[in-house]
Amino acid sequence: MGMKKVDIIGGGIAGLALAGVLDPGRFDVTLHEQRPQLPTVGTTLAMWPQAQRALSDLGILGAVRSRGAIIKSGALRSPSGEPMLSMEGEGLVGISRPELLKLLDTAVPDTVTRVARRVERTPRGAWLTVGADGVNSVVRRDMWGRRSAARPTAFLAVRGVVPGTPAPEDVGEYWGRGEIFGLAPAGDGTNWYASYRSDLGPDKVDVAEALDATRTRYARHSPAVQGVLAIATAENSLAQRIWTTPPLRRYVRSNVVLVGDAAHAMTPNLGRGACEALIDAVTLGKLLNELPLEKALAAYGRKRVLRTQQLRLASSLMGSVALAQGMQPLRDSLLKQAGKRIARSRERDRTSK
Ligand SMILES: Cc1cc2nc3c(=O)[nH]c(=O)nc-3n(C[C@H](O)[C@H](O)[C@H](O)COP(=O)(O)OP(=O)(O)OC[C@H]3O[C@@H](n4cnc5c(N)ncnc54)[C@H](O)[C@@H]3O)c2cc1C
Repeated sequence: MGMKKVDIIGGGIAGLALAGVLDPGRFDVTLHEQRPQLPTVGTTLAMWPQAQRALSDLGILGAVRSRGAIIKSGALRSPSGEPMLSMEGEGLVGISRPELLKLLDTAVPDTVTRVARRVERTPRGAWLTVGADGVNSVVRRDMWGRRSAARPTAFLAVRGVVPGTPAPEDVGEYWGRGEIFGLAPAGDGTNWYASYRSDLGPDKVDVAEALDATRTRYARHSPAVQGVLAIATAENSLAQRIWTTPPLRRYVRSNVVLVGDAAHAMTPNLGRGACEALIDAVTLGKLLNELPLEKALAAYGRKRVLRTQQLRLASSLMGSVALAQGMQPLRDSLLKQAGKRIARSRERDRTSK
C-alpha cells in the first residue's frame, strides 16, 4: 500500500500537533505555514487536563510541565482587587504560546515536508486536506462558503508579559463594568490581559495606541493592575480585536476536514481554544492512524463537533457575563454570595475531615 498524501494548511497549535501524531510510516505529510519562523512574543495559555493528555500522546507533557507553571488557584476580583469568588485550581498548567509552539515543533517528524508560504486557495490533490489555518481560515472559506467567515466581536484583547512576579493576593481576573483584566505569574514575569469594547481594528491594531487606551480605561483599577500597565511596552504586548466563527454542524466536506480555530474559533473567556485545537488534532491523528478515511472522519465528527460547539457557546455566554455593563451590580452581588457559600462549604469539608 502506498503512502497517503496529507496536506495540512496552517502550522499553529493544531497543525503542528496533527503533524506530530500522524504515523510517518503511512502518511506523506506536507505542512503549509505562512509564517517564516515560530513567534517569539506571546502570552500564557492554560492547559486543561484533557489537553494535557493530548500533550502526553505527543510525548511532550513532561517538557511542557517543566517549562510551564502549575496553576493552583485563582480569584474573581472587583476592579479594586477585592476577591468576589476564589477557585481551587484543577491541575492546570500555564505555558507561553511561543514555548508551546516550540515544543510541538520538536514533536514533528523529519519526514514532514514544510512549505513556508501562504496558501491562497485550498489545494485539493491530496488524499486528505486539513484546514488548521485558524480563525480566518482559507479552507473554511473555500469549502464552507463566505457566510461561514469569521466575524469581529466588539471586544479588543490587549495582553502581554512584564518583568516581576505578581503578589499572590493580586493574582486573578478583575471584572469591572464592561471590562476584564487578568493577572497571573508566568515564569519570572507577570502575564496580563485586558478585554473591553473598543472601536480599534478590526484588522491591524496599533499596539501603542491600544496600550494608551487600556491605561486610560483601567486608571481606576487596583494599584496592581495599574503597576502592570505602567511598565507594559508596545514590544512586550499584543493587541487584537477578538474574532469568532459562526457555528458549523460538520467539520468535514468530502476529503477536507477542519481542526482548531478554523472549525470553532471561540472568545477567550473560558481559556479553551488552544486546548480544544490540541485535542482536535490528536483525536483526528489517532483515528486516521487506526481507521479507513471515511470511518476516521465520521468518528472525528462524533467526538468533536458537539463538544466544541457547546464550548464555543459557553465561552461567549461567559464573555457576556464577564463583560456585563448594565447588569454588573447584580452580577457582582451574585458572585459574592456564591463566593461566601463556596468558602463556607470548604470550611465544613475541612472541619469534618
Ligand atoms: C486574546 C486571546 C487569548 C487567548 N487565550 C487562550 C487561553 O488562555 N487558553 C486557550 O486554550 N486558548 C486561548 N486562546 C485561543 C487560542 O489562541 C486559539 O484557540 C488557538 O491559537 C487555536 O489554534 P489553531 O492552531 O487552531 O490556530 P492558530 O493558532 O491561529 O494557528 C493557525 C496557523 O495557520 C497559519 N495560517 C493561517 N492562514 C494560513 C494560510 N492561508 N496559509 C498558510 N498558513 C496559514 C497561521 O500563521 C498560524 O500559524 C486565546 C485567544 C485570544 C485571541
